[in-house]
Parts: sequence; structure tokens; C-alpha cells
Amino acid sequence: MTRKDMARADFRSPRLHVEDALAADATIALGKPQAHYLRNVLRLEAGDPVLVFNGRDGEWRATIAGTSKRPALTVTEQTREQTAPLDLHYLFAPLKHERLDYMVQKAVEMGVSRLQPVLTRHVQMHRVNLDRMRANAIEAAEQCGILNLPAIGEPRPFDDVIAARKPERLLVFCDEGAEVKDPIAALAAARAKPSAVVPVAAAEGGQPIAVLVGPEGGFAEEERAALLKLPNLVRLSLGPRILRADTAAVAALALVQAVLGDWK
Ligand code: SAM
Repeated sequence: MTRKDMARADFRSPRLHVEDALAADATIALGKPQAHYLRNVLRLEAGDPVLVFNGRDGEWRATIAGTSKRPALTVTEQTREQTAPLDLHYLFAPLKHERLDYMVQKAVEMGVSRLQPVLTRHVQMHRVNLDRMRANAIEAAEQCGILNLPAIGEPRPFDDVIAARKPERLLVFCDEGAEVKDPIAALAAARAKPSAVVPVAAAEGGQPIAVLVGPEGGFAEEERAALLKLPNLVRLSLGPRILRADTAAVAALALVQAVLGDWK
């Protein structure tokens, strides 16, 4: 959302994510949870405005229609065009429930385009409820005027993620042992320069980036050693204090967006 968009965005009308295609005069049948939320929680009446988005067709204004038995929305006009998602992946060792809920919501607010759980040696949670992650991603997008929902990957072992990593994607390894203590300088030095692994296009436009944060127990030494061998990697210090993994998510994504992302 550009600053102009932000100034125009309507944060008063409720926003709903729907799966349906969006076009003028389309009718969207509402499921029970969304109908209950609009009618009984927000106490909206027929004709009241709602904003809807599906991650493909931009944002549209709609009005409450249908009956209490068959609740629906009637789509009227487009309020914002669909924007292309950033190419910003967030790789993380899964956290326990409430902390993971928080981390997913903050990563979506920060504009990530992919959430990838990574099973590291000291990870606390080997299984992740992907439906819960998706519900949290949708809730954050609905509340913050976001048009793109992130892709959500199945949890994958650390070694597979590293083996499959494409060198043209800058890997920001959040490492409390990083030598360069100035995170801004470290990220600025990692800005894409055309090279054998970074195509010119990436150097000019939004370069593909992945941010990696470890588990509560930190990375194992052999994981750190494997990471430090990778090309197109930057070790990012998040300051002199050890941050909890969900705090590290917000701090790291803020720094990356400010120096290399869309906060300019
Ligand atoms: N090693 C500590 C431990 O045993 O609990 C803390 C690990 S910390 C909770 C989890 C992750 O957050 C780390 O693996 C790292 O990716 C990131 N992190 C936390 N504090 C950091 C800092 N000051 N600089 C860089 N990364 C940090």
C-alpha cells in the first residue's frame, strides 16, 4: 500500500477476506462465521458497507444483502487495485501456540509473502497447525488493510531448506554472534549488486529476500556453520540483548523493510 493508498484507505468499514472472485454486482454467499460476525457482533444491517478482498482482485466495497437464512454481500465498486506481493520470505523455527499466533500476525503486517516453518535441531514444536497459521494471517490482513496473503509452507527440516535455497535470494541470518554490530550497515552492504548469483533485475527492483530466525534454544553450531558457508548471506545482529524469537521477528523484519524493503 503506497502512502497515497494509505491516506485513502478506509479503516472504518469492516474488511473481510473472501475466496470468491470479485467484480461489480457479484454476489458473495457468506458462511455462518462471517455472517454471525457481521450481523451479530458488528450489528450491521442490510445495505451497510463492508470491504472485501481475496488476494487476487484488489479491494472492493460491498453491501450487506441476502436474508438471515441466506446471508450475502453484493459487490459494488473497487476501492483499491491489487498490488504485487513483495518477495520477502520469513523462515522461522515454530514457536508454541500463542507466541506463534503473534509472530504470524506481525510477519503479515510487516509484508512477508511467505511463512516457512523450519525444523532446526533445538526447535520446540515439530508440528504446526497450518489452518491456525492461515487464520491468523487472514485476521492480520483484514485488520491492517493488507491485500496479499502470504503463502504458508509445510514445516521442513533445516537441511532441506538450506539445500533448496536459491543463491539469488539474499538470506538474512539473524545471528546474535554476528561480527558487524550495526544492522543497518550490514543490510545496506547486502543490497543487491548485479553479480553471478544476483540477476540485474533483482539488483534494480525488489530483491528476493529471506529472513531466518532461530528457535528459543538458538541454532546448533553445525547449523550456524552450514549457514556461514552460503553465498549471498548477511549475518544480522539485532542489538546487544538476546531477543525472544517472536520479538526477533518484528525487529528483523522492520530493519529489512526499512533498509531493503518497501518502507522507503
Ligand atoms: N540463544 C538464546 C537461547 O538459547 O535462548 C536465544 C535464542 S533467540 C531466543 C532465538 C533467535 O532469535 C536466535 O536464534 C536469533 O535468530 C534471534 N535473535 C535473538 N536475539 C538476537 C540478537 N541480539 N541478534 C541477532 N539475532 C537474535
